[in-house]
Amino acid sequence: MRVSAAFSRLLRLSGVWVKQVRFAPERVIVEVALRRRRLRCPRCEFSTRHRHDVRPVASVWRHLDLGVWRLELRARLRRLDCPTHGVRVEGVPFARPDCRFTRDFEQLVAWLATRADKTTITRLARIDWDTVGRIITRVSDDELDPDRLQDLFEIGIDEVSWRRQHRYLTLVSDHQRRCVVWGAEGNGQAAADAFFAELGPERSQRIEAISMDMGPGYAKSARKPEHAPRATLCIDNFHVAALATKALDEVRRDYWNELRSLGDQQAAKRFKDARWALLKNPEHLTDTQAATHRALRLAGGEVWRAYTLKEATRAIFAAGLTSDDVGHLLGRLISRCARSRLRPFVHLGQTLRKHRQGILAARRLGLSNARSEALNNKVRLITRRAYGFHTAQAALALVMLTCGPITLRPPHELHPLTP
Ligand SMILES: [Zn+2]
Repeated sequence: MRVSAAFSRLLRLSGVWVKQVRFAPERVIVEVALRRRRLRCPRCEFSTRHRHDVRPVASVWRHLDLGVWRLELRARLRRLDCPTHGVRVEGVPFARPDCRFTRDFEQLVAWLATRADKTTITRLARIDWDTVGRIITRVSDDELDPDRLQDLFEIGIDEVSWRRQHRYLTLVSDHQRRCVVWGAEGNGQAAADAFFAELGPERSQRIEAISMDMGPGYAKSARKPEHAPRATLCIDNFHVAALATKALDEVRRDYWNELRSLGDQQAAKRFKDARWALLKNPEHLTDTQAATHRALRLAGGEVWRAYTLKEATRAIFAAGLTSDDVGHLLGRLISRCARSRLRPFVHLGQTLRKHRQGILAARRLGLSNARSEALNNKVRLITRRAYGFHTAQAALALVMLTCGPITLRPPHELHPLTP
């Protein structure tokens, strides 16, 4: 085999000649030339024999590393005049248009991004995190199945924060396929309106149930006549549980502030440490936390009462209960909250009363089960990793590549090697 052919095989580059290979500090430079005579538009199917001009365009791409060396592809490309896209540099088979990386390199980075943390990827691939963001945005745009919005019957709509200072993504998940199928920057009614607009009235009308939080925005949008006015609206369990935890934390904080203002610094310090003993689920407590827990129980008082109300809220979602059981427990919890004399829990009771139908509907339809909670946890874990990105598109791409209807593979699994 000629050296050139062997090298293009080694690099998995089809349709090119390898003209020269040389070493530079820290990298190997491989000069290639396209085999084909015709020029292809990088944005469409158009191809031509005619060059726009004779001036070559020097182009560089980063390819998969060769051992510890960075590998750089270089080519002198031609320009063509596409009737749709105007004067462009010709497209190449191994890279996306206007892009400094080969498809194989981008595929590897995208695959890593769904599995490894920021430091691992940026050190291994030797690129910064915003570059990772741009790469995964391109890969996500290419890989997303255009038919993913077909056959949606039971969906969840939810917001997640992808950055500090209240920057949100709204995500729509398909409860049947257990994956995120749509996302956009922003939250509330406007974001939901954008989803229904993309879905179109016909497919929107076929939606049977929508799970969501207790805010007014998503429900308002769903109820519009051209959206999904007949769908059953359900409240996701984890939003209810989160409200109860928040109410408990408010009671705890008030009590702590009271201790401090009474000058009992020692007790205030101890009590601040007790925070996790209260907020964690009892089955996850450490030994020390369990001891604190027992002390709080013996002391009784309003913090302990708040804790039992929080646990009573969690109990509504226990496995194995019938809809009737849940209705009964929920009714009892609402009246206990009303009588609690703890302001945050009185509010909680009012909220639960208002959303009683939605909470029961989620139970009846089984929309808030462990598997949809697992997806929700996965989304939240992944958006923590997206905090370093500067664009919502990159954060959304990370969510779609990890939790969307996409199966990413490392590059060598895409086109298996033959001897
Ligand atoms: Zn074109």
